[in-house]
Amino acid sequence: MSEHFDVIVIGTGAGGGSLAYTLAPTGKRILLLERGTYLTRELGNWDPDPVFVDGRYISPDTWYDGDGTPFQPQVHYFVGGATKMYGAALYRLRPEDFGEIKHVDGVSPAWPMSYAEFEPWYTKAEWLYQVHGEHGEDPTEGPASRQYPWPAVSHEPRIQRINDALAEAGYNPFHAPCGILLNEADRPASTCIRCSTCDGYPCLVHAKSDAEVIAVRPLLGLPNVTLLVNSEVVRLQTDPAGRTVTGVVVDHGGDGKEEIYTGDIVVLAAGAANTAKILLRSASDAYPAGLANGSDQVGRNYMFHVSKTIAAFGAEDNDTSFQKTLGLNDFYLAGDGREWPMGNIQMVGKATGGAMKGEEPHLTKLAPNWSLEDVARHAVDFWLTTEDLPKPGNRVTIDEDGSIHLDYVPSNETEAAGLYAEFRKILNHVGLARHHVLHKNYYMGMNIPIAGVAHQAGTCRFGNDPATSVLDVNCKAHELDNLYLADTSFFPSIGAVNPALTVIANAIRVGEHIADRLGASLPAEARAPAPRTEPATPASTFSRKR
Ligand SMILES: Cc1cc2nc3c(=O)[nH]c(=O)nc-3n(C[C@H](O)[C@H](O)[C@H](O)COP(=O)(O)OP(=O)(O)OC[C@H]3O[C@@H](n4cnc5c(N)ncnc54)[C@H](O)[C@@H]3O)c2cc1C
Repeated sequence: MSEHFDVIVIGTGAGGGSLAYTLAPTGKRILLLERGTYLTRELGNWDPDPVFVDGRYISPDTWYDGDGTPFQPQVHYFVGGATKMYGAALYRLRPEDFGEIKHVDGVSPAWPMSYAEFEPWYTKAEWLYQVHGEHGEDPTEGPASRQYPWPAVSHEPRIQRINDALAEAGYNPFHAPCGILLNEADRPASTCIRCSTCDGYPCLVHAKSDAEVIAVRPLLGLPNVTLLVNSEVVRLQTDPAGRTVTGVVVDHGGDGKEEIYTGDIVVLAAGAANTAKILLRSASDAYPAGLANGSDQVGRNYMFHVSKTIAAFGAEDNDTSFQKTLGLNDFYLAGDGREWPMGNIQMVGKATGGAMKGEEPHLTKLAPNWSLEDVARHAVDFWLTTEDLPKPGNRVTIDEDGSIHLDYVPSNETEAAGLYAEFRKILNHVGLARHHVLHKNYYMGMNIPIAGVAHQAGTCRFGNDPATSVLDVNCKAHELDNLYLADTSFFPSIGAVNPALTVIANAIRVGEHIADRLGASLPAEARAPAPRTEPATPASTFSRKR
């Protein structure tokens, strides 16, 4: 393909997909390059055996840890990226996360923007991804310029009872923000059927607000947008001075035949580890340590959250289908007698016998499926997250074959232990004292911590100082004129809530900046989503039409 593009976007996940969606109305010629292809819609999408036991949707990559031991990272190379598997819990960071926060193991650095400056794009991201929620319920959240587009998803009865017990005990539970397509969005073919497989599974009926459904599919067929799948970007070429990316080198399927694409602007959004890999593989005379890496920061400050998944068992059956409706941030910040911040508590997708087999293969080896289903029926499943600090030694490097090596040592484990202690107290209030810490190896990989790369972030942070950051405040590489990054690599810190809404919001922001730079106009509604037409109600049910 010899055509020249205005913008080339590498990766179609939360960052790349959302940025392309933002830029498409400008009419500029956009090329989307995706190493994977479409995730096949098949019954196996909802079957725990292929998803968790066989790892059907996990890429066959081999990465290496700091000791050189190989492992299979839980990465997903599809149109839509990791969002094809994500739980669509679309949280904002807290305002404090944008400033400096002291932790037991060090300091979480300030962002070059405040929450107030970033906030308009959070609102746009919530509207684009059709988030259900209720701003104002969670006392730790920052101001929102607009309410969510849709009311919060109501708790099913078992979760409502937990919510009520927590509130009675003095806690502040809130409705978790969920990116799902209920029947109100005028998408009859894509209506969430409230199954238990939102989190960690692809959605067979395309009713999860993932990047393929929300951002990429609407672009297919537009005359100015081209999507090439099975197109792995292997490196970027520059002019001799190293100021401009002049070529994007693509391998279309591993036959060793490479093609070069050209664009005025190149946006890298391959996920935090792969973006660093591409830059490091693009070393040249101008950049012997890797493209845009004069600061030696590319690949450093890798973060991924300190997390625990916990199944708590009660005497009562838990017949909840869609479990991810409740969150609790009472321990998110220091204060009220807490010396350190501790993090977030939320629900995860409902455990099933099949999923437990995949998550705990040793513990469940001898158990028949029917007995596991019986155990799972009593489980209520929670997920605890503590902030991980950006440490320079936690880093992605590559070897001479171009394979990723990931050095990683977790931080803030004392805070994570404190959160777990608070969580145990909570369980006593809600009649769930008996519990088990699950090794959700498909998700956060507690038994192989380094392989659980679901929340990878931070390998090319943005900042004002080119000596300590890779990107400027617009996420343009300090050292190049036409290279931008739009995935989770830009995070200077990760906070203790799920990262996807923040990367989507940032991608919209960077997309608008690129549109301005190209002198292209965006429709007014693309820059400012219309306000919700009805006032928020406390909670929507799955069947409710607006
Ligand atoms: C099981 C699971 C559950 C999760 N649940 C949640 C949740 O509930 N809430 C939340 O906020 N976050 C969640 N996440 C995390 C969230 O999905 C990620 O933070 C988010 O998708 C990151 O966006 P990204 O653009 O950085 O990367 P991705 O979305 O992964 O996109 C990267 C894209 O680049 C492509 N790519 C990679 N290398 C190349 C290359 N060399 N050439 C071309 N293309 C390339 C990939 O195939 C992919 O499409 C979850 C993740 C997983 C795996």
